[in-house]
Amino acid sequence: MKAIVVARHGDADGLEMREIETPAPKGRQVLVKVHACGVCRRDILVRRSPAHRGLASPLVLGHEIAGTVAALGSEARNFKVGDRVCSTQREYVCGCCTMCRTDREALCADLRFLGQEAMGGNAEYVLVMDDNLAKLPEPISFEAGSIVGCPVGTSYNAVVDTGQVRAGERVLITGMGGLGIHAVQIARACGAYVIAATRHPDKAKSIEELGAHRVVVAPDGRFAGRVREATGGNGADVSIDTVGSAVFHEIRRSIAVGGRIVLVGEVTGTLIELDMAMIYRRSLTIRSATSTSRRQLEAALKLIASGAVRPVVERTMPLSEAAAAHRLVEANAVTGRIVLTP
Ligand SMILES: [Zn+2]
Ligand SMILES: [Zn+2]
Repeated sequence: MKAIVVARHGDADGLEMREIETPAPKGRQVLVKVHACGVCRRDILVRRSPAHRGLASPLVLGHEIAGTVAALGSEARNFKVGDRVCSTQREYVCGCCTMCRTDREALCADLRFLGQEAMGGNAEYVLVMDDNLAKLPEPISFEAGSIVGCPVGTSYNAVVDTGQVRAGERVLITGMGGLGIHAVQIARACGAYVIAATRHPDKAKSIEELGAHRVVVAPDGRFAGRVREATGGNGADVSIDTVGSAVFHEIRRSIAVGGRIVLVGEVTGTLIELDMAMIYRRSLTIRSATSTSRRQLEAALKLIASGAVRPVVERTMPLSEAAAAHRLVEANAVTGRIVLTP
């Protein structure tokens, strides 16, 4: 089969199209014929850095996969050849540890991540254990379905499960990248009053179209005053933050007493000072959401099939142009996902 292999760690020139052996499914593995695979920033981090331990060899990137079942291992359950499927981000989880048994299998110590410890979906075929796949409902395209297990499902986790957003609550969403633009839609679907903060004036109109009730454009990053104004001076009940330390203090100024701060990313990795007395006095909760469980993937697919949420795929490119796609993501030239099609 054809696959894009990381021939050299470093820049995108290290990605090469090669002919490699088509894998055969064993045990509970499912062989998926890849129809679409999203390009994620995580792919770029893995491509750049040889420091990750236990990487698959050859290294084929891609954990946002949709396709059809081509063959099944002898113990694979729940699927038959020809089924339309999409993946969580993982090839394997143990299924029996505390994390796997409590809807947090992304924290399983034994997991193998697609495109890292296991070969990913930048290829014509990929192996995924049955536990890490969900059926892709007919109205959802492969391109849209491919990204549900990562940006859409992680936003679902942040808003619905970790953030516990209820109808009528005021939700602030920061950072209008792949996570933010789906969090806006999911919070809206929950019945929340959605305030989106962005540095980029040119994004305002499209964010409103996705369902934000109020878009605060703050090129200097100072959005707290206008968030308080938009909430009658009280502040937001919940913040879904895809940026991290760079905006933490603005979020702190934006959040209501008793508010919940949900972290879904850390862009700059900067250390910040935190006044614990302020967290205590104002009874704030800080939680984080890092990934999508299979249950969350299935729940997100239901929301999408109902029409309440639309996965934002900005561009589809042939798999052979994977390096060009990486360069576009690295240059921040796209807001929605780029999806590769073999
Ligand atoms: Zn991803
Ligand atoms: Zn486990």
